[in-house]
Amino acid sequence: MTCPHCQRDIADYSNFCYFCGARQHASTAQPPRASKRLMRSSVDCKIGGVCGGIAEYLEVDSTIVRLIWVLLVLMPVPLVPAFVGYFVAWLILPKAPLPTPYAAPPAPASTPAQTA
Ligand SMILES: [Zn+2]
Repeated sequence: MTCPHCQRDIADYSNFCYFCGARQHASTAQPPRASKRLMRSSVDCKIGGVCGGIAEYLEVDSTIVRLIWVLLVLMPVPLVPAFVGYFVAWLILPKAPLPTPYAAPPAPASTPAQTA
């Protein structure tokens, strides 16, 4: 692969150029991340987390999804009743696991003082 900054040839999968130190695009060489699942959001939820989950799945702002849902409620499309759709999605979609609130502290190292 070629560094886009200095145009020199560097090894594939390099994160940084050897010559100029420019950061390389890591996404091109690595496989896409694990397939994401459509789940109810556990953190971005106003009612049941359905809109938040859809927003996370589509990688859009959850406000946009909620706005579309509100518009569907106000102006119901005969094929997609928003309330029924939300309820069915709430029933079907699994709840996303809660993210860890903070980085878990490292396992207590067995220092000589503690083992006494
Ligand atoms: Zn370079």
